[in-house]
Amino acid sequence: MAAGRPVLEAVVVGGGPAGLTAAIALAGAGVPTALVAGRPRPTDNRTTALLTGSVTALKTLGVWQLGQANAAPLRVMRIVDDTGRLLRAPEVRFEAEEIGLEAFGYNIENRYLVAAMLALACKITALEVIAEDATNVAVGADAVTVTLESGDTVMARLAVGADGRRSACRAAAGIATESSRYPQAALTLTLRHSRPHHDTSTEFHRPSGPFTLVPLPSQRSSLVFVTDPQDAARLKALPDAKLAAAIEERSHSILGKIEVEPERGMFPLAVERARTLGAHRVALVGEAAHVIPPIGAQGLNLGLRDAATIGELVAAAHRRGHNPGADELTSRYAQMRRADVMSRTLAVDLLNRSLLSEFLPLQGARGLGLTLLQHIGPLRRATMREGVAPAAAQPRLMRGERL
Ligand SMILES: Cc1cc2nc3c(=O)[nH]c(=O)nc-3n(C[C@H](O)[C@H](O)[C@H](O)COP(=O)(O)OP(=O)(O)OC[C@H]3O[C@@H](n4cnc5c(N)ncnc54)[C@H](O)[C@@H]3O)c2cc1C
Repeated sequence: MAAGRPVLEAVVVGGGPAGLTAAIALAGAGVPTALVAGRPRPTDNRTTALLTGSVTALKTLGVWQLGQANAAPLRVMRIVDDTGRLLRAPEVRFEAEEIGLEAFGYNIENRYLVAAMLALACKITALEVIAEDATNVAVGADAVTVTLESGDTVMARLAVGADGRRSACRAAAGIATESSRYPQAALTLTLRHSRPHHDTSTEFHRPSGPFTLVPLPSQRSSLVFVTDPQDAARLKALPDAKLAAAIEERSHSILGKIEVEPERGMFPLAVERARTLGAHRVALVGEAAHVIPPIGAQGLNLGLRDAATIGELVAAAHRRGHNPGADELTSRYAQMRRADVMSRTLAVDLLNRSLLSEFLPLQGARGLGLTLLQHIGPLRRATMREGVAPAAAQPRLMRGERL
């Protein structure tokens, strides 16, 4: 990029799914934007269960059409108490048709999701995609300057920090985080199985964390196996046949005979939240803003609502000729995202801790909560509606409205 180029309206740092969505939303609405997407990284073998609002947003942006052939619907979600403890909860079964939906959402491999997003991003004229890492981010009085590996710089009035857990944008804006680690890691892989999954995702709640099978197209599923880090490392190193047998045993053979596919990933689990999502010309989206354990498919769905919200605010400011980096805009963004982020991080953190805890009253409360969900229809339906479309946050893209 040539030095001395004009200051852009926005620069997005980080080419993961949250950053790509923010960049597509901004530039698709005509806001001159650069995406510092980073150097190509090893493939992410995870899958993402995208809930219905996220799917609507991605359809509205034109991404979904490029990826949907690789996605499987999630029509039923089961939670099975597999703790073997004294105070066990009944199985809870959520069915999308009970709240008038064909599916809660769709599960897609991250590599297909990111490839669809990147293909679209590269076609948008208002978007420059830069396949380099940012080596420095500096917040100035009128603009944020992002230095690239090549030594070139990109300047913009607003920086969208989508650069993940160790966000340089967050540090440049002086935004602190609150965090804690769990004694858990998630082993991730994809499987083939002999029995059909019937579009059903099953979350076994075990004392060391959830063991979740999520459908993929045909007789394949993804597995997120949360356990203590030593156990996760041991399982990851097992030969295919032994790992398949261990998975079949822990899944109580609900999917029949298991065959594991080659790639295996491992992710240490933590909960982390930035004190604010917007300050000093920086708006944080995705894991730069919040990290939560993989329970109930909330993480990226939350990140996509961040991206849709900042896209909406900046597109409106751009149309009115307002400065997208003004404190007014970043504070408004932080305020709009606060309740959604707080409620999801607290709920998922509590649910995860209740699994790990040996404290009987907490186990009892968890069991009671799940019992009420199973037996009280209106409560179950309200929980399902809140799970797929939170009342506190319905950005326009999630409602199918273009920016
Ligand atoms: C096991 C597991 C399963 C999950 N399953 C689900 C699910 O089913 N549903 C769901 O909603 N969520 C799920 N999540 C959460 C979801 O994966 C994350 O929320 C999501 O990946 C975050 O995306 P992101 O774009 O914010 O961050 P990332 O994917 O971490 O992307 C950040 C990007 O920034 C880039 N970057 C970093 N530094 C720089 C720099 N200096 N310059 C340029 N680029 C930089 C990185 O290379 C990377 O590409 C799961 C998480 C885990 C751990």
